Amino acid sequence: MKKKVVIALGGNAILQPGQKGTYEEQIDNIEVACREIAELVKKGFQIVITHGNGPQVGNILIQNEEGAKRVPKMPLDVCGAQSQGMIGYMIQQKLRKILIRNGYNNEITTIITQVVVDKNDPSFQNPSKPVGPFYSEEKAKIEIAKGESWIEDAGRGWRKVVPSPEPKTIVEANIIKKVVQDEVIVIASGGGGIPVVEEGKDIYLGIDAVIDKDLAGQRLAVDIEADIFVILTDVSGVAINYKKDNETWLRNITLDEVNLYEDEGHFRQGSMGPKVRACKRFVEITNKPAIISSLDKLVDAVEGKAGTRIIPDASEKTS
Ligand code: ADP
Ligand code: MG
Repeated sequence: MKKKVVIALGGNAILQPGQKGTYEEQIDNIEVACREIAELVKKGFQIVITHGNGPQVGNILIQNEEGAKRVPKMPLDVCGAQSQGMIGYMIQQKLRKILIRNGYNNEITTIITQVVVDKNDPSFQNPSKPVGPFYSEEKAKIEIAKGESWIEDAGRGWRKVVPSPEPKTIVEANIIKKVVQDEVIVIASGGGGIPVVEEGKDIYLGIDAVIDKDLAGQRLAVDIEADIFVILTDVSGVAINYKKDNETWLRNITLDEVNLYEDEGHFRQGSMGPKVRACKRFVEITNKPAIISSLDKLVDAVEGKAGTRIIPDASEKTS
């Protein structure tokens, strides 16, 4: 059986810092990511892709806001679904083109994915994840009066903040599993999935929240019984003393070592923190490795030659 790899694409795989988010920019970035992924397909791995959606959903929110005089605004969960469709479609097209040119005929599909969160998740008491653009204080005050949470961000303006609850289960887990069994390349749980709460048994309601894409990717990896979970980002891996004089990049680290470094505060919340946490959970549950690497080193990372590999214990150390 083919080895299954879940790949979580970071924001930079779709949009680079300083870019506006034109169609051309995004499709060009996606092409680069898909070339890397195609190399893994050629090596015989079976691929499941998940991805971030921050800038894309931000732009969809602006379109909604600016267009509100002409067409009705859509809620955040619907904007999230739109972004999954949009990004998934671009990946489907580019990856297919590259594979076909290389003589591979893999089928590819995107699954609009809902992720269940707990209504009592503590993050609902403390919305902290900014979404969308900066606005004036007047606009923020109007929305706050309607019940939303907004924060003033270091003099740059006001931004809406939403809760970032823990992912519990993936509603479409079964169907994703079935499609993966058929050896289809699947794009799922984009942007951390559309956050939903249980309204009744097996009935779900979309909510105003954002789930961390790395933590949701970990659920996906466990659900599809992945052999490897890879998080691709804009740095070569995980460092301790990051950006300090004694910065050290890690190659193979055991769960015990990760826990120690985590307690020492080496991994920043909102960036490396959730990635390390997601990898840890995957390794704890499956006893299989998880990797954090840069996008351009995907193949080397999977082969143990690049990135930071989190492993259950020292007996698994390869280098
Ligand atoms: P993504 O869009 O891929 O999720 P993030 O910006 O959320 O990217 O996370 C990657 C960033 O994490 C890196 O650009 C780096 O600046 C930051 N980071 C924080 N702590 C560390 C660390 N200990 N080692 C490496 N990178 C770190
Ligand atoms: Mg991130």
